[in-house]
Amino acid sequence: MELEIKNISKIYNNGVHALKDVNLTLTPGMFGLLGPNGAGKSSIMRTIATLQQPDSGDILFNGQSILKKPNLFRQKLGYLPQEFGVYSNESALSLLDYFARLKGIKNTKQRKQRIEELLHLVNLTEHCHKAVDTYSGGMRQRFGIAQVLLAEPQVIIVDEPTAGLDPAERNRFYAILHHLTSQAIVILSTHIVADVTDLCNDMAILNKGEILARGAPDELVHSIQGSIWQKSVTKDELAQLRAQHKVLSTRIVKGEIKATIQTTQATTGFLPAIADLEDFYFSYVPELAV
Ligand code: ADP
Repeated sequence: MELEIKNISKIYNNGVHALKDVNLTLTPGMFGLLGPNGAGKSSIMRTIATLQQPDSGDILFNGQSILKKPNLFRQKLGYLPQEFGVYSNESALSLLDYFARLKGIKNTKQRKQRIEELLHLVNLTEHCHKAVDTYSGGMRQRFGIAQVLLAEPQVIIVDEPTAGLDPAERNRFYAILHHLTSQAIVILSTHIVADVTDLCNDMAILNKGEILARGAPDELVHSIQGSIWQKSVTKDELAQLRAQHKVLSTRIVKGEIKATIQTTQATTGFLPAIADLEDFYFSYVPELAV
């Protein structure tokens, strides 16, 4: 199973060049598309979901253009958008039954079994008789996943799923997503580095419509290991540091500013630090100076 994104470009009517010659080949597993707000993540997601057309380029699923035959691909696609807009006073159970019938699962027993499996998977069995509009944000996202999975999709797109979820809900949502990766190509778009660290076996960094880096998170982090240094600095020193070094990030730790820099040479006063994915991300997408 392979999804090939080939030379995709998009300029919106307002002149924003949202995607610039994007190329990605994806196989089953969890792929993280990481980038700041405005990078173009949703533009890529909507294009793969066949909700918008690129100006140029093509997307092939197992060698067939999904842009030329969108209806065929949509049957294999599950798309969970940022805002999952089901605010119904129907129960999760009756909504899932309704969607399952729409998807053509005619056999009542089969339908009941599939819905029970999915409610169990997303941990909503005990809440399945409650109206969906009484659900929390996390429960609604999990309900969204159950709905997406009814059709047993081969490609699953999840756009910024953890925004607005509390840590416990986020963990629960991660566990469900992780469960899917053996059977499908799951594409997760996020601006949260920890989402990718915890979940993805493959990733890319997108900024200003361009893919800046691509690979397995561990390998990408390994590539900068040994070049990350840290030191506590004053505000004045920080300005000077920025002029001399590549400052990746600054953190307030116990009331002090801790600066992380990237350099291949040992620098007086700095201690070597173990690189993580956040350092790698900031080496491509600089943190805004505060
Ligand atoms: P992300 O999902 O990474 O935040 P988007 O794909 O939503 O990024 O947006 C990329 C850029 O394209 C942004 O500058 C955004 O303002 C612009 N953009 C997105 N959708 C549209 C649209 N429908 N019309 C015009 N500009 C858009």
